[in-house]
Amino acid sequence: MMKNKMMKIKYSFFLLSMVVLLFASCGTQTGNKKAQKKDTSRTIVSGFNADSAYAFTAKQVAFGPRVPGTKAHAQCASWMINKLKQFSDTVYIQKFKARTYDGVTRTGINIIGSVNPDETSRVLLLAHWDSRPFADHDKDPANYHKPIDAANDGASGVAVLLELMRQFKLNNPEKGVDVLLVDLEDWGPPDFESHPYNENNWGLGSQYWAKTPHIPGYQANYGILLDMVGAKNPTFKKEYYSMGFASYVVNEVWRTADELGYGEWFVNAEGGAISDDHIFINKYRNIPTIDIIHLDSHSSNGSFYEYWHTTGDTMDKIDKSTLLMVGKVVGTVVYNN
Ligand SMILES: [Zn+2]
Repeated sequence: MMKNKMMKIKYSFFLLSMVVLLFASCGTQTGNKKAQKKDTSRTIVSGFNADSAYAFTAKQVAFGPRVPGTKAHAQCASWMINKLKQFSDTVYIQKFKARTYDGVTRTGINIIGSVNPDETSRVLLLAHWDSRPFADHDKDPANYHKPIDAANDGASGVAVLLELMRQFKLNNPEKGVDVLLVDLEDWGPPDFESHPYNENNWGLGSQYWAKTPHIPGYQANYGILLDMVGAKNPTFKKEYYSMGFASYVVNEVWRTADELGYGEWFVNAEGGAISDDHIFINKYRNIPTIDIIHLDSHSSNGSFYEYWHTTGDTMDKIDKSTLLMVGKVVGTVVYNN
């Protein structure tokens, strides 16, 4: 589907350039304006600022672990709301209650920033912003009950999306873009307790939003979830559910990455099946949504980024060039699709 759409876009550019050529001698404004539009993909590639994305990551981590119910969580929420007010046209704050696996009802906050809110053609970009309250994969069991800094598993995705929004403010993507920062993704049962696996224990914020979107009946053409997109030398593989729900989006993202010279990290191989926020966006809202997630079968946990769900998920593991790569890839996809 994406392929057909791309061909259509290219075909219309061909027609458009003919029109521009025809009108060039008459010096029409319309022709010039439309011709400029084609360059937006190049603009994002040069504009996305790695220092800015890095600073957005560091800022979140500096609040302390953003565990729902804590002061750090509340402070980070107001900071993100202010940033989105700066970079987008409309901001929605969605407070919700959800029950975690332990039967406790907790309050979460989903935050949505929209660019070009009146456009019907929209793209959804999302990341979770909460920090996991347990370091249940730490090497030292004494750390199991400690919350994690979540520099990569949370903050990195949010940071890339905030920087993208800053870019969209500077160079209008000429379509609707919504950044959805979901809460309570990572309060699933810890490994040191034995609970039967249930995917519904994860992604509580995205489940709530998918069933009760900020605008009733909300739809987008496609969605991209970012999760753990800031570590040095990452491996992004084509995640199984993403391929099942939205293979054309996966292929477009990986093709773009390859075109930009990032084929070494956006590996052209199938990855494992990961229960993440994209599942609920696909299941409950029918928006074809993919997950860009750091999958590493050679790590000590056997699946993810080495410091996943450990006290080692800290700022010193964050690499500017990874944030830049993901920002460029996603930005280019958004401007062109
Ligand atoms: Zn996590």
